Amino acid sequence: MNLNEIKSFAPFCLSCLGRTCGKVGFGLDNRERGIEILNQLEIQNGVDLYEELISEDSNCKICDGLISEIPNFIHLVIDSMSDYSISTFKIGTVVDKDLLSTEASFQSVFGEEIGEPLKSQLNREIGIGVWKATELEAKMDNPHAVAIIDTSYDTINLEIKSLFIEGNYNKYDRTVPQTRWPCNSCKGYGCKKCNDTGQLYPDSVQSLVAEPFIDAASCKEDLFHGMGREDIDAAMLGSGRPFVIELRMPRVRNLDLSTIENQINKKNESRIKVNNLKFVERSRVPELKNTVCDKTYRVDVSVFGEDSIESLKKGAQRLTGTVIEQRTPMRVSHRRADLVRPRLINSIDVTSFEGNMAELIIRAQHGTYIRELVSGDEGRTNPSFSSLVDATCKVEVLDVLNLHLDAKEEKND
Ligand SMILES: [Zn+2]
Ligand SMILES: [Zn+2]
Repeated sequence: MNLNEIKSFAPFCLSCLGRTCGKVGFGLDNRERGIEILNQLEIQNGVDLYEELISEDSNCKICDGLISEIPNFIHLVIDSMSDYSISTFKIGTVVDKDLLSTEASFQSVFGEEIGEPLKSQLNREIGIGVWKATELEAKMDNPHAVAIIDTSYDTINLEIKSLFIEGNYNKYDRTVPQTRWPCNSCKGYGCKKCNDTGQLYPDSVQSLVAEPFIDAASCKEDLFHGMGREDIDAAMLGSGRPFVIELRMPRVRNLDLSTIENQINKKNESRIKVNNLKFVERSRVPELKNTVCDKTYRVDVSVFGEDSIESLKKGAQRLTGTVIEQRTPMRVSHRRADLVRPRLINSIDVTSFEGNMAELIIRAQHGTYIRELVSGDEGRTNPSFSSLVDATCKVEVLDVLNLHLDAKEEKND
């Protein structure tokens, strides 16, 4: 070790000296290790070096006083986390780049072996300090809170792990969309057109489900992830549609899901219903988003140009088990690629025909446009119910009766 080179970095604190060599003195902390290294240097060179090399922690040229700031950082972290009921945490630090490169050249003077990085001592000692003061458990993998300390500005960026709750919903109210829908005119800021709500529709399945969750978890924001979605004016019946609601930055984590389920269902009776609420991991969201399955629909269809139920039934029979070709419907062509997709129609049953209204029960492959299957969309869907019964048929009411999760597939288009 070249003493003159070491001197060019002085003064430094004992911890920064100790970190240069992790192998000196088993079981010592960096400060004690620093004393060991200083002793060795003094013996090798036969002179006292303390005055010349070592500074108070706050005047250190290697860490720029950050080691002496550790108690302050511990307080900042505890303060930032105090509003959140968490049980595990992790510490991270942002350290000025120039400091890190000075530290690297300082450590290289002491040999090939790389010492402990400054950030690692900061993270460890701040973590221990927080643990001792709060009894929260430090956890590397997937903790409830991650506190990133920017050591240049003494600020904390606190990330709180979201809560994810999965359930199924039914929708009986044919006026609510699945998710919040920001007003077209103001993009959610609030304007005259939307009565300053920022929303195109006053309620959504998302907003009705989220309300008691936001109260209970005291969170800032929620996201709603559905396994597909039905049209606004379609009901979602049967055993419902799976969804995951994500609560961002929740202050409270242990929610009573059955109480919340009751609150949602009581308040929104006849509009929506949820069931089977349970906590899940984040990984359920992409799983849900990538799952598609056959669906069964109940539709009310107006029929003009054909009066006999027998001929409707014949047309339905000819579609059952048929693969149709469906070009992207006109009504969505402005936002979807113009493609022709083959879709399997598992079955169509005509259950009633009165006046000019027929009720059909249709089971079809995921991604089938049901309205166009019935109307033909001016020839873009072929064959269609209209073309086979040779009449003008139009869906007036559409409900999703069932998602056949026993026949699920990976999404591929
Ligand atoms: Zn230092
Ligand atoms: Zn608006």
